[in-house]
Amino acid sequence: MVGCTIPFCNNSSEKGYVMKAIPRNTQRGVQWINNINTKYKNWIPSNHSCICEVKLFVLCIFTILLLFN
Ligand SMILES: [Zn+2]
Repeated sequence: MVGCTIPFCNNSSEKGYVMKAIPRNTQRGVQWINNINTKYKNWIPSNHSCICEVKLFVLCIFTILLLFN
């Protein structure tokens, strides 16, 4: 079972959510981690951190909002 690494999110692959690994070695991955850190202070992803597609969608919106502000 893969669980979502986002604080307070209990979604997991077992519940039918698509889990995405955070690409830590790419600029996009670093950007995600920075975005999450902006919302959740002191959040540190592990090597195998995954986030569910729901949160990914929210993060995408969040990134778009940041870009247009
Ligand atoms: Zn999640």
